[in-house]
Amino acid sequence: MKKIWLISIIVLLALFAFASCGDVDEGDSAGSVGNVTETSEEETEAEHSTTTETAATTATSADANTGGEDFAIPEFADEPSVEINHNVPVFDDALKTGKSFETYGALDKYGRCTTAIANLSTDTQPGASEERGDISSVHPSGWKSEQGWERCHLIGWQLSGENDNPRNLVTGTHYMNVEGMLPYENMVEWYISETGNHVLYEVTPIFEGKNMVCAGVHMQGYSVEDDGSGVSFNVFCFNVKPGYDINYKTGEVTVADEEIARQQSFDRGYVLNTSTMKFHYPSCSSVEKMAEHNKEYVETSREELIEAGYEPCGNCEP
Ligand SMILES: [Zn+2]
Repeated sequence: MKKIWLISIIVLLALFAFASCGDVDEGDSAGSVGNVTETSEEETEAEHSTTTETAATTATSADANTGGEDFAIPEFADEPSVEINHNVPVFDDALKTGKSFETYGALDKYGRCTTAIANLSTDTQPGASEERGDISSVHPSGWKSEQGWERCHLIGWQLSGENDNPRNLVTGTHYMNVEGMLPYENMVEWYISETGNHVLYEVTPIFEGKNMVCAGVHMQGYSVEDDGSGVSFNVFCFNVKPGYDINYKTGEVTVADEEIARQQSFDRGYVLNTSTMKFHYPSCSSVEKMAEHNKEYVETSREELIEAGYEPCGNCEP
């Protein structure tokens, strides 16, 4: 019996310490309207009506909402992601319910994304008839044209139906988007479609100091109804681009290693529209809408395409 009391006291103390941490963090992000903010206005449309919760409890699990100041950024070791906390996600028990919600934290005082947290299920996903929209109007913090950046969703469109919500888009590399984040997004999407269960899901971009481009994103997922036996992960995905140097303050990207850089751009390729003479990244939303007979997939360098009379697309900015 004594032991149980001791454990209870320790847990209470830990909770107390955690809660006061949260208070300090809130102070840090002065200017933002609290940590947890309602989903954007567009959310009212019936197609993917989600209940948005403003539970105070979220603040604790989002150790996060600090702009990542107290998150120790791991060293990049040629792997797109690395496990955090032995891959064990940390979520407040109060959030582990069968109720869907999505919250997108307010931008911090530098205009940077904070934390996106959601309890994902089929009802947070885009409707069958919903199409991916144009997100080119959003310029996430650190965005710089023609540097090969992608607008990365914190919570992917296929999971949230969020298109151009500025609280959900960061400046990221193709490498982070596809090699780092996508495997986890796919896993969650697959799990939800198979089971109809909920997955608690949290993504926080981690910024070093006052950098405008994040060093990476901290991602966690936990399947609720089966206590994490379906989905359970806690990882950091690096916002790097092999073969390139990134200036995280300005968003400038420069070639560091010609050989690796060339290989990277070949791996990625471009899609040409032979009618409009524009070139796109394969991930660009315009590519899906393009007529098949105008579409051409190439592994030519950017410079060669421009020389051949092609222009970079204004949406994906390749
Ligand atoms: Zn494009």
